[in-house]
Amino acid sequence: MIVMKFGGTSVEDAAAIDSSCHIVRERLSRKPFVIVSALGGATNGLLEAGSFAARSELGKAMVIADRLEYRHTELLPSAAEHFVRLRELLKALAAIGEFSPRTQDLIASYGEMLSSLIFADRMKRLGVDVIHVDARQCMVTDDRFGKASPLMDVTTSRLEEAAQPHLNAGRVVVMGGYIASTLAGVTTTLGRGGSDYSAAVTGAALNAEEIQIWTDVDGMMTADPRIVSKAWKVKEISFDEASELAYFGAKVLHPLTVLPAVEKNIPVYILNSRKPKGTGTKITLEARPCKNLIKSIACKRGITIVTVSSSRMLMAHGFLRALFEVFDRHHTSVDMVATSEVSVSLTLDDVSSLKAIVQELKQLGDVEVSSQTALICLVGNNLKYTPGVARRAFGSIADINILMVSHGASNINFSFLVDEKDANTAIKNLHADFFSEVDPEVFETAG
Ligand code: ADP
Ligand code: ASP
Ligand code: MG
Repeated sequence: MIVMKFGGTSVEDAAAIDSSCHIVRERLSRKPFVIVSALGGATNGLLEAGSFAARSELGKAMVIADRLEYRHTELLPSAAEHFVRLRELLKALAAIGEFSPRTQDLIASYGEMLSSLIFADRMKRLGVDVIHVDARQCMVTDDRFGKASPLMDVTTSRLEEAAQPHLNAGRVVVMGGYIASTLAGVTTTLGRGGSDYSAAVTGAALNAEEIQIWTDVDGMMTADPRIVSKAWKVKEISFDEASELAYFGAKVLHPLTVLPAVEKNIPVYILNSRKPKGTGTKITLEARPCKNLIKSIACKRGITIVTVSSSRMLMAHGFLRALFEVFDRHHTSVDMVATSEVSVSLTLDDVSSLKAIVQELKQLGDVEVSSQTALICLVGNNLKYTPGVARRAFGSIADINILMVSHGASNINFSFLVDEKDANTAIKNLHADFFSEVDPEVFETAG
């Protein structure tokens, strides 16, 4: 069997859903298990409605609910009954005045719950033998709401039970991505962009032959095509390079997607649902040799730098342990670290506990926080041992101030921080320099 995942733009309206359904229909012999995201923009809309409701702006919440209802019922009239329940939930939020992560997951789950019903219905109307599976019955996670982790053993047996007989019988299985539930049956989500992760978990659980991520770009590109319009498509990229790029901001793939696939050595393809004949990007175990120094440039915005300075650090041990324990206590991960004799700078992208973290860090030294920076990451094979990467990178952005650098920790990543306002210029200049000529074995023109 194969897993085919369709992202929000591939199911944003009737036309997109139709063409995605046709893509599936052309691959029936491969026994597709289809995973769909919410209709493009629906998750944002649902969460926005919830936030308005919890701030007692119920009117605004209901306007969004009306718009969402219109979009969904146009595609599937029976979706209306779910909006009765959603409105009740919004009213309850307004009464309580709070929007907890647990409730956020419940509200957000309407997106994939409905899109998957819509997709299955559309497939059926195209004459395809199809079964809808409720992700909340199969994907079982821990209870870290908003960012839950799948419990692989139970998930595998539930998925096998729910899907395998249908796949064997030649039936297409359709399930919503992103949403799941705890063992006790409480709705959870796998984090924003998590449908890719659902696809990888499903592929690993059912030993898929391959996992296809259908999206709105031709594949993994040399830079975000929204920033660099003439970005190249990377034909093949290693699991390591792909996960580094995903982690450092290449939104085309959720960072955790690659892991379950690597563990079972299942190839992952990124494909364009608007150009189904394209070959996409293949993510493989080994990187093939490449004449270009790097494969792609990723960028993560909204990064905060926290610097702790203390003379207590001088020649002392235990300081870094105490420092990292603070981040650990607040479940906050650190992306980049730089140290000097008496100071340590770290970068964070999750600032939900920043206030509390800073309070605790103050016990260790003086704390300085600067926000609105962007982390730019160059990814390629063997960067650590390739001379000239830094000279070339910094040469092409000579006018831009570099706030922090990391090199050598990983052999495939060279990254640095710039002010957020400089990020696009930096990416464009870097791209123009590193990809003025490309290795035709590895890259090709998009489209
Ligand atoms: P989906 O809804 O299909 O999951 P996403 O919006 O999550 O799609 O991801 C696709 C988007 O990722 C593209 O439209 C593109 O703007 C962005 N992107 C960022 N970096 C890259 C990259 N290196 N290659 C391809 N796309 C990228
Ligand atoms: N619909 C969810 C989101 O917007 C999950 C996904 O699309 O992958 O984050
Ligand atoms: Mg996505």
